Amino acid sequence: MSTTPMAMDKTELWDAVLSRLSEKISRMEFCTWFKKVQIDEMNHEAIVIACPTEMNRNWLETKYRAVILANVRAVNPQIGEVFFRVNLKLADAQPSNPSLFQKKPNPRKLPNKPEVRLAEGIESRVIHAKFTLDNFIVGEENRLAHAACLAVAESVGSGQGTKYNPLFVYGGVGLGKTHLLQGTANEIMRRNPDACIVYTTSERFTNEIIKGIRERKGENLRKKYRRVDALIIDDVQFFEGKEQTQNELFNTFNDLFEFGKQIIFSADRPPAELTGISDRLRSRMGWGLSVDVQLPNYETRMAIVQAKSRELGLVLGSDVQDFLAANVRRNLRELENLLTQVHAELEITGASPTVQSVAKIFRKLNPNQNLSVNGRSSMRSLARSTDDIITLISEFYQVPATEILGKSRKKEIVYPRQMAWLLCKDVLKMSYESIGADFGGKNHTTIMHGVRKIKKLLETERQVARHLHALHQDLGVK
Ligand code: ADP
Ligand code: MG
Repeated sequence: MSTTPMAMDKTELWDAVLSRLSEKISRMEFCTWFKKVQIDEMNHEAIVIACPTEMNRNWLETKYRAVILANVRAVNPQIGEVFFRVNLKLADAQPSNPSLFQKKPNPRKLPNKPEVRLAEGIESRVIHAKFTLDNFIVGEENRLAHAACLAVAESVGSGQGTKYNPLFVYGGVGLGKTHLLQGTANEIMRRNPDACIVYTTSERFTNEIIKGIRERKGENLRKKYRRVDALIIDDVQFFEGKEQTQNELFNTFNDLFEFGKQIIFSADRPPAELTGISDRLRSRMGWGLSVDVQLPNYETRMAIVQAKSRELGLVLGSDVQDFLAANVRRNLRELENLLTQVHAELEITGASPTVQSVAKIFRKLNPNQNLSVNGRSSMRSLARSTDDIITLISEFYQVPATEILGKSRKKEIVYPRQMAWLLCKDVLKMSYESIGADFGGKNHTTIMHGVRKIKKLLETERQVARHLHALHQDLGVK
């Protein structure tokens, strides 16, 4: 027997509305905001919804009024208005249909499966359980980023609204951005097994948009994205020049932001420097908090070396640890590759890794880098000559030293070369003449022009200023 809308009492009506809402909004929101809510009063035209707290009422009134009304009307079209009030007695209330609020089994408990958390129908990358905020080693260079991620993870689903929205994490390759983003996703899920999180890369997001457009399912996609509690997009610099995708992201951003959903981005640059991204999207990316990750210092790198080798079950002598911490200076992913290879060799040959055997593997992976074998002494005390500067620049920009000394006019070579001149001038205090002589007999005016050019760039391009800062750090210049 079906009940006609008119004959429905308020409990039946609310149960029907809840069951519809549970399909339309994310599980976590649903459980957070609707569990203790009831219809207090109703007549033919309106209902009054009672909430257990002031915050709950405000939240429903500002964020959910429209969707509640639409679903009430879908059940009983005569109702034209909803009102909200606080009823403190509801704090102890039980829902009339508790099964709607039952916790879903936590898929993370499945053994031996990579952790995947998909919002239905949305393409998401796997979130690896191995990246956590706990096993991220914190040093001065990434402290703020780590703290911000933790604060965000705590705020999602806390019912207190979002903390920093969006959170924007930026920094060079291999400095832990993906680790932090996935660690944040894992932390949100640990606290809230019902949270619906989408972690994706800008490339995957783009492909999905293109597919949606091709199959004319763009609208569905948008509806689905609205159901997530947190949207995490890694490496947004690759949205450069992709206008249609940027438009979609802009709309999705607005939808999510309006509903207080957390958004997290990462990129190799801060938002303001993302060229090729529309002004309106770029400005939104910078609305919340932007934090950077820089290359960790020797002590932090040492802690990472120890943690990663422990994870692999690899026992390394302190001289080998020191070698690794001193030489992995640009990209921590190299460290992972290196340790994996060291581990493989150990398994095959059975011989314990030594500084020599590790250095051999290192050279294969990084033919351009000059090795420091006495650990901490690395570049800092070595930068005494033009050669040291050239080695550093070659490593930093991944350009062979022969090119830096050569005659190529290509931008990718000229810029590092001029940067080398600047360092020779400012750090080694060399004259333009002697720099010219060391760089293949160039005229001193050529050197002077090159140095001036970099100084000019320093005023306008923050990327260049950051490079110089990193190079100075390597050289131990304060
Ligand atoms: P990015 O996304 O910035 O290019 P990743 O997050 O992929 O860098 O980091 C590269 C590797 O270095 C990963 O294996 C990551 O676990 C590791 N890593 C980076 N920073 C840290 C850190 N502070 N503590 C522990 N591991 C780190
Ligand atoms: Mg990454």
